[in-house]
This record gives sequence, C-alpha cells and structure tokens, in this order.
Amino acid sequence: MLKFKPERLSASNRTDRSLLENQLKSAIWYSTQFKSFEWDPSSYNTAGMFDLLLTNEDIEPTKRLRLAYNILKDVPAYYDAAQNNIKTPTKEHTELAVPQLKGATSTLKALSDFRKKHNNGDLSTEEQAEFDKRLDKATDAVDKYSKWLSKKLESKKTEWRSFRIGKPLFDSKFTYDIQSGYSASEIYLKALNEKQELHRKMAGITTQLWKKYFPDIAQPTDDLKAIKMMIDRLSMRHVSRDSLIIAIRQQLPTLVNFIKDKNIVYLDPSKPLEVRETPEYMRGVAGASISSPGVFEKSRPTYYNVTPLDEYTEEQAESYLREYNHYMLQILNIHEAIPGHYIQLIYSNQSPSLVKSIFGNGAMIEGWACYTERMMLEEGYGATEQPEMWLMYYKWNLRIACNTILDYSVHTLDMSKEQALDLLTKEAFQQQTEAAEKWQRCQLTQVQLCSYYTGLTEIYDFRQSQKKKLGSAFNLKAFHEQFLSYGSAPVPEIKKMMEEEQK
Ligand code: ZN
Ligand code: ZN
Repeated sequence: MLKFKPERLSASNRTDRSLLENQLKSAIWYSTQFKSFEWDPSSYNTAGMFDLLLTNEDIEPTKRLRLAYNILKDVPAYYDAAQNNIKTPTKEHTELAVPQLKGATSTLKALSDFRKKHNNGDLSTEEQAEFDKRLDKATDAVDKYSKWLSKKLESKKTEWRSFRIGKPLFDSKFTYDIQSGYSASEIYLKALNEKQELHRKMAGITTQLWKKYFPDIAQPTDDLKAIKMMIDRLSMRHVSRDSLIIAIRQQLPTLVNFIKDKNIVYLDPSKPLEVRETPEYMRGVAGASISSPGVFEKSRPTYYNVTPLDEYTEEQAESYLREYNHYMLQILNIHEAIPGHYIQLIYSNQSPSLVKSIFGNGAMIEGWACYTERMMLEEGYGATEQPEMWLMYYKWNLRIACNTILDYSVHTLDMSKEQALDLLTKEAFQQQTEAAEKWQRCQLTQVQLCSYYTGLTEIYDFRQSQKKKLGSAFNLKAFHEQFLSYGSAPVPEIKKMMEEEQK
C-alpha cells in the first residue's frame, strides 16, 4: 500500500516516480521474461569495465589500480557464470561475442602495462605478484569462454535460437524501452504511411528541380529512380575533407542567430559549446556526437565531437562527405547542436533531478533532436536553399521511418535479409554498405531502431494538437521551453504535465 498520494507530488517528482517505477518493472521483465542472459553470449565481456578504469582520468591512477586489483580476482568466476547461464544462444550474438572477447584480452594486457606505469608503492611487492597471477587467470578465463563459444559455432549439432524475438517480446520491450503513448504496431503503421507520403513529396521536389540539375536528361518515369538520381546529384555539393570541422564551427553562429531572430527557444549564453576533434579513445565509427556535461559536472562545456577523416582513403572520405553534403551537414548541426541535443541537454541539466538525468528517456532525447530538424525548416531555416534542403531532410527522415519498419518487420513479421536490403537501398536510397550494416544491427538489437521515429512522431503530433487547441494563443517558444523544462522525461509524461498546467 502506498503511504502517500502520487498525484499530490510536484510535477517533477511525479515524473521521477514514474521513471523509477518503469525502471523497476522493466528490470523484472528483463530478468524473468526477456532473459537475454540465456541467449546473448556477447553480453558477457569485461572489456568495457576495465577500459573505464584505464581511461577515467577523474579518478587517481593508484585508486584505479587498487580497484582493478580487487575486481580481477572475480573475473574467472564471472566467465564461469556466463557459461552456466547461456542456454540456447543465437548464432548472430555468438558470432559477435567471439571477436569482441579479443577486446577483453587486450584490455587485460593494457592493465599489465598500467600496473607497471602507475604503481607508486600503492601495491606491495606481494600484491604486485598477485596482481600478475590474477591477470593470467583472468586471461585464461576469457580464452576458455571464447573457445567454448567457438566450438558451438563449429559444431553442426549446436541448437540455435532465432535472433528474431517475436511479437510478444517485441511489444513488451517497446513498452519498457520507449515508454510511448503509441504501441509498437501503431508506430509501425504510422511509419509505413510516412514512407509513402515521403516518396510522394520527394517525387514532387525532384520534378520541380529536374531541369535545373539535369537540363539534358529526360526524367525517368520511375519515381524512385528519379529521386535517387537527384539525391546523388545534390550530394556532390560538399566541403573538402580537411575543412569538415571548420565548416561545422562556422555554421553554429548562424543557427544561434536564427533561433534568436525567430523566437524558437532561449539559449543560455553562459553554457559554452566547443567543437573539437573526437578524442582518440572515442573514435571507431566516424561521425559526430555530443558529449554533454554529466550530472555532477555542470560547469564543463558541452563538446561537439567531430571525427576527422585522416584515416580514410580518398574513396571512403568522398563517400562520407557525400552523405554529409552541404545540405545534410546543416541538418546534422541542427540535430546534434542547435536547437537539438545541445540545447535539450542544457535544459535537462537544469531540471534538478538525478533520477531524470540517470534514467533519461532515449526516445524523448532523440525525438527532440529529430523534431527540431523539421521545425527549423518549417520556420524558414535555409529558405534560400529550398527545396533542395527539404529533399535532403526527407531522405534523412525516410531513414528513421524505415529503421522502424525494418526493426518491427524483422522481429515480428519474419522479414528476410533480401527484403530488408531492398527496403533500405531501393526505398530509403541507402548505399549498399550502410544497408548491410543496418541489417547487422537489426539482428543484434531490438526496438532501439524505433526510438527516433517514435519520439519525433509523438512530439510533432503533440505540438500540432497544442496548436489546434490553443489557436492564436499558441506560442512556439513558450511551447518549446515548457516542453524542455521537465528534463529528459518520456513524452507521454511531459504531455500529461503540460496539459494539467493548462487546466
Ligand atoms: Zn566530391
Ligand atoms: Zn541524436
């Protein structure tokens, strides 16, 4: 029995409570229903944890060394437990686990160097010897687990579980992970409609632009073919490989001015945003990301990480730059920075709630960033470059709609690999490599690919309903600021609180 009435809590506390409740229910569901610990061998890997110890400069090295020393002792038991837990694994997760376990071995090697470098008398001579002994045993344990999995892969008798989780599990996982007002199948149907609608709009723009870019070529009667040609043509406009970071840096003041002029949202000028090269240890996949200050480090600037293309061949760089062409780069900046992730996270940090900061809702965070892309264009951003900008935006938007269709179809409707690749390359205009990676990701994850589209749809629909309800009293800036003021809460919670305050 509850000793208090939840409805009498403040709005912020009520959201916290509902986030915690979802967190607990979800934890129970994961351990009693989803049970990926029985079928996902890649979920057992000590690399991430030791990597954190090796790289976290906020903690003194001697302290980290001591922590590593203590943790190492339990590594063999950990991998034994892993082997015991795995019942019927999926082949795909097993294939992922084996190469990833090499990472576990290399972090153990790095720990050995770390001990030699940082042991300033904190560990005694005996402890140092013991440290090395523990390292050896840990390495053997990783080896043993990895070999056990390899054997399963080699054997023809191994019984595999399908990587497709099926509708009941998918629906529940969607409920817990996304926390949406829509069900998984509702969102799937919305995404299917959106795809048709986007194709229609893209075909319209393509026809409108055709003569400008292809004066000597007749427009193909096949719409999808014509759109693809137009996208390829527009993608040729891009910055040079050395000026990617500079271009991003130069773009930001334009965005800041635009949101001020158009009264889109207040931006606290005391919260700096720094564009920097992605630090070595975070590189891997090329691209851009935002590192926002954590809950306990509010004074640190927000970093906009951009991975330089140094390591790319001419061909790879060209392909990347075409993807992030002149138009797309601006949409990316809106998404990552202004008024996307950077601004949302500033507001989120102002909402003084550890609960929201730690259990922030992914669909709300990504949904907001995706929402701002459309909203900025609607408000007239890039007016001199339209309709080209819209066409590129639609391609971007099509990607998240198709991610949702893919995820749902693969896990609940048995979509084949061939159908999946067709969807991505023919209907979402993706390159073969991008599509192949997406197929891979879809086999290994569930629901996450739906979060962008679900968040966007929910925020956009809510704004439209507010516009309708409030009529001339609707104010975009006020809507945005109130929406963001609750922190990274699930969109249905934010809706409830905003509607209540309007009563
Ligand atoms: Zn080029
Ligand atoms: Zn994002």
